Amino acid sequence: MSARNVSRSNAVLEISRRRREEGPDTGPLPAADALHAGTAGEDPTTFYGCNVFDDKAMRRHLPRSVYRSLRKTMDQGERLDPAVADVVASAMKDWAMERGATHYTHVFYPLTGLTAEKHDGFLVPDGMGGALAEFSGTMLVKGEADGSSLPSGGLRSTFEARGYTAWDVTSPAYLMESAGGLVLCVPTVFLSWTGLALDKKTPLLRSGQALSRQALRVLRLFGVESSLPVLSNGGLEQEYFLIDDQFVSARPDLLVAGRTLFGARPAKGQEFEDQYYGVIPNRVLAFMMDVEKKLFRLGVPVRTRHNEAAPSQYEIAPMFETANLATDHNQLIMTVLRKTARRHGLACLLHEKPFAGINGSGKHLNYSIGNAELGNLFDPGETPHENAQFLVFLCAVIRAVHRHAGFLRAVVATASNDLRLGAHEAPPAIMSLFLGDELTDVLEQFRAGRVKGAGERRMMNVGVDTLPPLPADSGDRNRTSPFAFVGNRFEFRAVGSAMSAAGALVALNTMLAESLDFAATFLEEQMAGGAVSLGQAVQRLIEDVMEEHSAVIFNGDGYSDIWHREAQRRGLPDYPATPDALTVFSSPEVIDLCEGYGVFTRAELKARQDIYLEQYVKSVRTEASLAARMARTMIYPAVCRYRKELADSVAAARALDLPADDAALREVAERTARLEEAMNALRDVMEETRWAGLSGPLKKAHYCLHAVLPSMSALRALADALEELVADDLWPLPSYQEMLFMK
Ligand code: ADP
Ligand code: MG
Repeated sequence: MSARNVSRSNAVLEISRRRREEGPDTGPLPAADALHAGTAGEDPTTFYGCNVFDDKAMRRHLPRSVYRSLRKTMDQGERLDPAVADVVASAMKDWAMERGATHYTHVFYPLTGLTAEKHDGFLVPDGMGGALAEFSGTMLVKGEADGSSLPSGGLRSTFEARGYTAWDVTSPAYLMESAGGLVLCVPTVFLSWTGLALDKKTPLLRSGQALSRQALRVLRLFGVESSLPVLSNGGLEQEYFLIDDQFVSARPDLLVAGRTLFGARPAKGQEFEDQYYGVIPNRVLAFMMDVEKKLFRLGVPVRTRHNEAAPSQYEIAPMFETANLATDHNQLIMTVLRKTARRHGLACLLHEKPFAGINGSGKHLNYSIGNAELGNLFDPGETPHENAQFLVFLCAVIRAVHRHAGFLRAVVATASNDLRLGAHEAPPAIMSLFLGDELTDVLEQFRAGRVKGAGERRMMNVGVDTLPPLPADSGDRNRTSPFAFVGNRFEFRAVGSAMSAAGALVALNTMLAESLDFAATFLEEQMAGGAVSLGQAVQRLIEDVMEEHSAVIFNGDGYSDIWHREAQRRGLPDYPATPDALTVFSSPEVIDLCEGYGVFTRAELKARQDIYLEQYVKSVRTEASLAARMARTMIYPAVCRYRKELADSVAAARALDLPADDAALREVAERTARLEEAMNALRDVMEETRWAGLSGPLKKAHYCLHAVLPSMSALRALADALEELVADDLWPLPSYQEMLFMK
């Protein structure tokens, strides 16, 4: 069905009819809905993880020696024994087929930020007119993927379009349910034949190894050993909007771009603050329960659900997991949200800014490092010794964020996230670190000690037991900071709701690896010769880091103009727009950082920069043509009709010698003329000949930023003002009010 076949009035009528039938929206969930959601009388522990080839399934289906070998690969990152792969594949196939699966797929995460899959059947002809189910170790471990239409940024020439996928043993295989049946999904990395990373998972795994190596070096200085690698953890809070899908069908912008390109602010926005943690409407609740049930079966540990600040905005958050698993699970959550919404006649909007004038959506990334033996290394601890160790890790974060603030901004840069970052709800585009007053005060005292010079009494001293117990929880939680310490983890709030979390995790792991390397080397050098104790060395490290890097710490209001000026004074980078942020990928610091820790080669970084710039350009161009078309074919005709209506009534009044007030007509006529000018201006900006003169993705991206986007905003402002003047029955697009408040 084309978008134009669903008119605004039909959509509104249909939804009102259903609302009447369903009765009041709050109160207990009707029994039928509860059954539909599948939660009535069913204990989730009985089906949690039933669609995952998890530890329990492995233990049950694999010979003990094979299980042990595989477990070792999973826990310690050791190479997978090929003999083991065959046995695992066969067991996995039997497990999947018993449950009704007919196909398998290597799931991978290309640079589009989406999830990609290619399905293959288990059945192969047996040569005697029948068929055999086949799934060998080689098929499990390695697959070919024709990625010629996926972005590679020149890393793979088209004559060699094939890349390959390889099983990521640390992320379990699972069964994905769909209307057509079950598919065995094997999480994989995606590489070119020459081994270059074409995906989001490969660098994440590489960055994890770099982080572990350096973290273990620091720990060894504290006399701490671990048989397991140090892993980073991610807890991802996913925000989204949920509206009736009839509205999406009636709005080409939502259908194609995932956000509204036009729309006057509703009379009521989020100013009443009555939505956050409010009662969840029944229809939404039934949807959420359905989502949760599916995710439980997929072993995704979802925990919280609530309303978010804007009308029709919600959040779903699982328990934190290791970075790799958390990222894969987040991709699954996004898929399940989208698919399940459709079944409920709803549309899940994951875009960062679907509606102007109200909050956009993010994906807060809660980040910590540690492992089962060591616990959480960002936990301050109880004893002075533990505190000292914590302070070293804290210093590494401070130094990392200060040195690589630009990189951290670049990995969350997309056209859609730009609409959110720096607007007055999401964190600003300036990357600073919130530590809370208490912790900042402790660190500042170290610096004061250094400033006073060695001779004077120091306020803080790690070497002697004068270090006070550190605040267990930093208390006040500053929502305006992009990167905040929240007691035992950091919360990075600049990640966009629609993007993969991998980019942010790669940057954090790599930056932290470099600073832990610095810290370990610093401490080793200080202690060489034995004259300086560990405590004294830590003391000097803190002084040094605070002296060099405390400029990144900011506990105040990140939305204020004062902060923008202050940040400039402190020399912190500010990239409000993606084209500029992405230049960071080719800065010498980022190239050195990523090459130095084996996370990206120079060529891989360049490819990413080009691909992300191209994506920016594509997204702005698509939206601009869409806006131009909607204005010309939907809004302008409606406005002209209204103008004619007004003109007719003025003429009729005059003909009857009645007083004719033509002020409204003049205003609409004048605004219509301006709308037409703005439409023509956008058309000119989008002329093919203009683009042809722009060589390279960066020039095109800047053209989008400085010519196309302003032209789109000018057009939108005029159209939105007209929406408030034109007779409501003539307006062709569902209004913000309808979309946000009708469920
Ligand atoms: P809030 O909305 O207050 O930020 P939520 O409970 O919605 O808190 O989300 C917190 C997220 O942080 C959850 O995903 C949670 O599992 C995660 N989290 C908790 N502890 C850690 C930790 N040590 N490391 C990483 N993530 C964590
Ligand atoms: Mg949070």
